Amino acid sequence: MKIIDLFKNGKQVISYEVFPPKTSSGFESVQLATKEIAKLNPGFISVTYGASGGTSDYTIDIASDIQKNLDVTSLAHLTCVTSNKETIINQLKKLKENNIENILALRGDLPSHMKDLKSRDYSYASDLMKDINEFGDFCIGGACYPEGHVESEHLVDDIKTIKSKVDMGCKFLITQMFFDNNILYNFLYKLRDAGIDIPVIAGIMPVTNAKQIKRIVELSGTYLPQRFKTVVDKFGHNPKAMAQAGIAYATEQIIGLYANGVNGIHVYSMNKPEIASAIHNNLSEIVNN
Ligand code: FAD
Repeated sequence: MKIIDLFKNGKQVISYEVFPPKTSSGFESVQLATKEIAKLNPGFISVTYGASGGTSDYTIDIASDIQKNLDVTSLAHLTCVTSNKETIINQLKKLKENNIENILALRGDLPSHMKDLKSRDYSYASDLMKDINEFGDFCIGGACYPEGHVESEHLVDDIKTIKSKVDMGCKFLITQMFFDNNILYNFLYKLRDAGIDIPVIAGIMPVTNAKQIKRIVELSGTYLPQRFKTVVDKFGHNPKAMAQAGIAYATEQIIGLYANGVNGIHVYSMNKPEIASAIHNNLSEIVNN
């Protein structure tokens, strides 16, 4: 199923993200995690692609397993900045062979040694979207950043980037995580002002251990509201309490978003079915995919 079709009838959709194993020895444990998440009957499960712009050998295998054996729609992430056209075309052929219809087309983070973007086959996600669109018949999604991408000086530059993604065939967006819903609402107003009306799926990260937070802030510069910091200060030293508080915080964010008309939620529960399941149970009367 194409993800865009999930949003046609105004239903609330919840989806989850997993990451592929680094080596074949980790394949089975990722498979087991996705099997548990699939039991929650999500709208789709997305599978990340490498890290820091790198490639991944197992993204398509996991995405294919989700679709073929677990009967859940999958969304394969694909980054381009370290790839050339030939690699991308091969990936697209493999996705087609595995009947994967949805691709989250990304540039990927720039490796520190990479200075000259212009000499590369792919400089930006929109270049990749153009090639996917030309290849044909994929439902293309893109990333967006309600607080602005770290490399963008002004949010208005990001809005222009999103416009170029839509021009290249992007049909939906998934946001970077945020911990204050007002940030998303302001961003949605800006998109609407710019005439961008594709579905925006809100990315929600349940923070279940205090160490995650330092990394999140370093990587994405995400704003942490005082209310969130108070929770971490109080419970961060107690792993079980922090997990419970993090899930409650994420649940409250999700309920607020649904109540305000945001129909798509993507939970960064990673390969942790217990977190996905706790969120799912908290929303059992709210979301019925
Ligand atoms: P782009 O849209 O290309 O934007 C990158 C920067 O370039 C922005 O500042 C943008 O404003 C600017 N820009 C874009 N077009 C132009 C232009 N024509 N001229 C000038 N400036 C321009 N990373 C991974 O490695 N693997 C993953 O699986 C992965 N999944 C992700 C999922 C989500 C939902 C999100 C939000 C991020 C994910 N990332 C992943 C991280 C992502 O790859 C990085 O944030 C990366 O730095 C930007 O990718 P992008 O696709 O948003 O890039």
